[in-house]
Amino acid sequence: MSFFESHDPVFDRFVLGNAPVKQLATGFDWVEGPVWFGDHDCLLFSDIPSHRILRWSERDGISVFRQQSNYANGHTRDRQGRLISCEHGLRRVTRTEHDGTITVIADAYGGRRLNSPNDVVVKSDGTIWFSDPHYGIMTDYEGFRAPSENPLVVYRADPDTGALDVMVDDMNAPNGLAFSPDETRLYVADTGRMFLNDPTHIRVYDISDDGRCRNGRHFHTIDNGMADGFRVDTDGNLWSSAADGVHCIAPDGRLLGKILVPELVSNVCFGGRAKHQLFITATTSLYRVTLVRNGAQWP
Ligand code: MG
Repeated sequence: MSFFESHDPVFDRFVLGNAPVKQLATGFDWVEGPVWFGDHDCLLFSDIPSHRILRWSERDGISVFRQQSNYANGHTRDRQGRLISCEHGLRRVTRTEHDGTITVIADAYGGRRLNSPNDVVVKSDGTIWFSDPHYGIMTDYEGFRAPSENPLVVYRADPDTGALDVMVDDMNAPNGLAFSPDETRLYVADTGRMFLNDPTHIRVYDISDDGRCRNGRHFHTIDNGMADGFRVDTDGNLWSSAADGVHCIAPDGRLLGKILVPELVSNVCFGGRAKHQLFITATTSLYRVTLVRNGAQWP
């Protein structure tokens, strides 16, 4: 059996015939938010319903990084290498300092609580961009059921003051997000309002000189399931979660190929020595595959 499905000849140069999609660990509930720590040679990821952030390394396997994660979902790192996390439970975005203390970046907008921050990316200027859909407060599965108090938008947070600006407000429910390698574009997944069967797709925005998102337009519709989280490689290809695996999408929006995964995929992250491996969080399991690609993500 092949682990790959090519939709364009270029994809055949991105994958290795003898590199498996390997299950590294399993037995979780709903894993999300993978983030690579090259300086510690390990991956952190969330098991959202079990209220934990887990750690995986080749040497030690799985361990618990943080109990009582406040139903953390997406993670990234800032330019100082600090962990930035979205928490459904306390409806906030936090930064874990190098000494382990937790700083709240943002938990409200306009005097009202955020919904349930879902996924996050840090721009090279240090600003923290995150989506704030309602998935973590719609049920008691991934947080605490509660009414939504703010629109479902993408915010940009000032890392020092926590001041928020609304950057994307034309989505039903924003989810994963990523900048192109040159930061001239922002990709955002719209996964729709739960139970309302909204259309789901990835949209792309141009980042103008004043730092705002302009010219929002359709980028790609996943042909099996939907895009939740994604990452970008150094040539600007988008590696997106889908129901049947990970889809590789060219900067012009074409599907180039798929990595087939036997569970519903939530998110991905490049890691390994040369950021040439893709870590895949997929429902109950963590997978990894080595590619002939390198991740563009910082650090
Ligand atoms: Mg997500």
